[in-house]
Order: sequence, then structure tokens, then C-alpha cells
Amino acid sequence: MFDTLRVMTSKRQGIPASLKRRLRQHHNFTCAMCPSPIYDYEHIDGYASTGHRFEDMTLLCPRHHREKTAGRLPASLVRKYRNQPYSTRRAATGGHPTHFAGPSQFMLIGDLTFETAGENRAVGLADQGEVILGIRVENGAPLIEIDLRDEANRPLLIVRSGELRFMSASWDITVEGQRITIWSEPETKALVLDLNPPNEIRVPHADFWHAGIHVRAGTASGYGGVQLRDAGESGHASFSGGTWIGGHFDIRDSKNVRPDAFFVISNVSATFRGPGL
Ligand SMILES: [Zn+2]
Repeated sequence: MFDTLRVMTSKRQGIPASLKRRLRQHHNFTCAMCPSPIYDYEHIDGYASTGHRFEDMTLLCPRHHREKTAGRLPASLVRKYRNQPYSTRRAATGGHPTHFAGPSQFMLIGDLTFETAGENRAVGLADQGEVILGIRVENGAPLIEIDLRDEANRPLLIVRSGELRFMSASWDITVEGQRITIWSEPETKALVLDLNPPNEIRVPHADFWHAGIHVRAGTASGYGGVQLRDAGESGHASFSGGTWIGGHFDIRDSKNVRPDAFFVISNVSATFRGPGL
């Protein structure tokens, strides 16, 4: 009698972090039934009957969660998808739109602030003019561009023209409110990204690779700024602070450096351009 009472009145325990991560990996970081990267942890037959058990849990986006709660989506179909989740066989998830608008946009990478100025300007970090962590403005519309890779050049997160795509090479991805965190491996965060629409993006932590260049920023750089280093450790550059208006840092040299590139690094040496350097 007392045991029964205790079970009935005991508080539901939180879902262990390791179980949540296993579920995220199993579903390739989206809803079991669609490409939405925003989801809840769902007990298919109810927490009371199964408790927190990997085999009996799934991820459902708010829409599919609502349908199941309302009885329009049967548990049997959810279970079928849970065993073969929508995104698991795909190398990348579908695109999820972000909601940025207006001509004035701010990209904060570590303690550096990049500000857009006018049309066809790219701000942030670029590789030969192609933005890899930043914003470009096209016909008055701001478009986020991110190409995040690990040391083996496997894509971890791709944001192309403002659409988020999570890549299966990531060890873990969490979305909590406005913050997206990408792990390249246990204990290593490749990116912490705060989306503050309509006009601000913050990167308080970055530790990724692009075309043989190791990029570290914010808490990953050791001093809060941006640090670039090539694989052979022969070329490197460090920046801290400042507001950079209407231009970008280009991490690799090219024959035709765009006029809005403030800074260029080649494999062996750094070249400095633009104001403030
Ligand atoms: Zn869904």
C-alpha cells in the first residue's frame, strides 16, 4: 500500500542527459517524422507505462507532438517512425528557415563586431570571398551563411542562404531557445551560436576547421578574439575587439581579393588590409 502510494505520488524524474543525447543521435537531430530541428522528448506510450527507456522514446516537433496529444496521430505510427526516423538515413537534415530581416545586421564573433553596410557586402569570416561564418546582404535581405567543418573536413553545420542544415557527422547538436550548440566530438564544442532575430547573431565560442585553417574564437581562443592557424602551424593571426563595418576577414589568399576584405591569410603568411590594421 505504501509502495503504491509512493509510486503514485513520487515526482517524475528528469530525463538523463546521456539518454537525451542518444535519442538525438538516433534521430539525426530532428523530429522523428519530419525535418524540424525543434522538438520535444516524447514517451510513445506515456511516461507512466514505460518510464525513461530509449526504445520507448522519440523526438517530436511541436506540430507532431500536438497531433499525437490530440489523438489524430496514433502511437503505432509514431513508433514506426521512431524505429526509422525521418532524418536518420540522410547525410543532412532539411532546411529550417531563420528569421532575419532589415538592412542593418550585426555578427559578433568572439569580441569582434561585424556590421553590414549596404548591398552586396559580406561580413564575418570568408574563404576567397565565400562567407563561411557570417552574413551577406542580397537585394536588401540578410542571409546567414555558415560552413562548419571538423579537422577531417566533414561538414558539421551548413547554413546556406539562411536555412539551417544539421549534418550527421556532428557528435551532438542541441537547440535550446535561441542557442544552437554543435559538438564535433565529446567534450569539444565546435560552435555556440545565438540567433537573435531580426538583426543580431552572436558566436561566443567557435572551434572548427576550414580548408586546412583552424579557426578559434571567443572562449575557444583563450583571449576572447579570433585566432586563425594553418595545419602546419606556420601561418597564424590573432585579432581582438573592434567594430568592422561592411567587410569580412578572408582566411585564404586568392589572386583577386575582394575590396571588402579587411584581412587575408595565406598558408605561410598574413596580409593585412583595411582600416584599423
Ligand atoms: Zn515533426
